[in-house]
Amino acid sequence: MELKFGPAEEQLRDEVRAFLKQHLREDRKEVGLGQRSDEDFEAALAFNRALGERGWIAPAWPKAYGGLGASIYEQMVFAEELGYASAPDTGTRGFGVGMIGPTLIVHASEEQKKHYLPKIQSGEHIWCQGYSEPGAGSDLAALQTRAVRDGDEYVINGQKIWTSGGHRANQMFCLVRTDPEAPKHRGITFLLIDDIKNTPGLTIRPLINMADRHHFNEVFFEDVRVPARNVVGEENRGWYVGMTLLDFERSGIGTTAGQRRTLEELADALRGGPADRRAKYRAKLADHVVANNVGKYLGYRIGYMQQAGLHPNYEASVIKIYQSELGQRIYNFGVNLLGLAGQLRPEESRAPIGGGLMENYLTSVPSTIYSGSNEIQRNIIATRGLGLPRG
Ligand SMILES: Cc1cc2nc3c(=O)[nH]c(=O)nc-3n(C[C@H](O)[C@H](O)[C@H](O)COP(=O)(O)OP(=O)(O)OC[C@H]3O[C@@H](n4cnc5c(N)ncnc54)[C@H](O)[C@@H]3O)c2cc1C
Repeated sequence: MELKFGPAEEQLRDEVRAFLKQHLREDRKEVGLGQRSDEDFEAALAFNRALGERGWIAPAWPKAYGGLGASIYEQMVFAEELGYASAPDTGTRGFGVGMIGPTLIVHASEEQKKHYLPKIQSGEHIWCQGYSEPGAGSDLAALQTRAVRDGDEYVINGQKIWTSGGHRANQMFCLVRTDPEAPKHRGITFLLIDDIKNTPGLTIRPLINMADRHHFNEVFFEDVRVPARNVVGEENRGWYVGMTLLDFERSGIGTTAGQRRTLEELADALRGGPADRRAKYRAKLADHVVANNVGKYLGYRIGYMQQAGLHPNYEASVIKIYQSELGQRIYNFGVNLLGLAGQLRPEESRAPIGGGLMENYLTSVPSTIYSGSNEIQRNIIATRGLGLPRG
């Protein structure tokens, strides 16, 4: 067994690295999705445009839809290098390229594909996800936001919550209830809402997270009118469209690469710091390197399965749990290693390692909640992986 990428992937890696070196300023990393200033967001947009000009914004998409038709292994190279460089996103690559784009490729009409896919690739459309509601998270099919057909339109009333980047986005894909009498999975429709900032009756209100950042939002719908042509797939069959979207599992390879970078930066900090600190933390740092390497190979396994045409199922849950919980441990460790200065935020020019540790520590807390909470992932491993009965 030979566990390494081939020459074509390594050549691509060199090209991606050269590109990142040219287009990413060191002090601009880890921005996007409204995490920081308007200026940072503009820089992230410009970065994505530059990626798009190379055809690298959606390398995995089929050539017929403007992608490169890149192999899974090539995609892993992109994910690894962009993750290591903490390349910023804007809702274009994550929600656009990673979620709604592939869903449209599978379920949308040709007209919808022609309209929406190029706008994802050009960065013109910035998407957000309207799934969760105050009473519907893990039990997503309990969602209550109601859409009633009125001629050529749907009229939407209700509320979404935890809408990441909703305040930066101009487009939303969402799940709405169109038949309240049907069994709960069968009365749901998948809708696209255009130009959300200028849609009457649609209000986006900020929710400030525990890192004191405006990352997500509440979205309220009061008689919001959306053209019926914006349904993806069929009315009342949206659950299956929505689940396709959640199926675009990732190997988490970018997360592992980002954590590797953090561990290297912590090693640099130890190298230049006092000897007693080095003695106290070096073995623990080595433990985290071991654990992160395990994460890397778990991620490669997902990539291998996808390349072999297998569908990662509970394996994706294993990696989601492993990486999110390891991330929390690494960032917690890093903040402690850096001492009191480790608590300084990125805005403070004297913050070690650009202030990223504290930021990452705080934002790693919800990583065990989003993308399907780790309790739900454990249920999946128990039932699908180990064949245990539910409950
Ligand atoms: C940072 C962040 C960003 C997010 N961004 C978005 C977004 O852009 N769009 C969007 O639609 N949503 C988003 N979400 C919402 C996310 O999908 C939900 O938070 C998640 O699905 C959990 O739902 P909930 O918060 O309602 O918790 P609940 O489902 O109420 O769960 C509460 C607790 O009970 C546990 N639990 C629930 N059911 C079970 C069960 N059957 N077995 C065992 N334990 C269970 C959960 O694990 C959790 O610990 C985001 C969340 C976070 C934290």
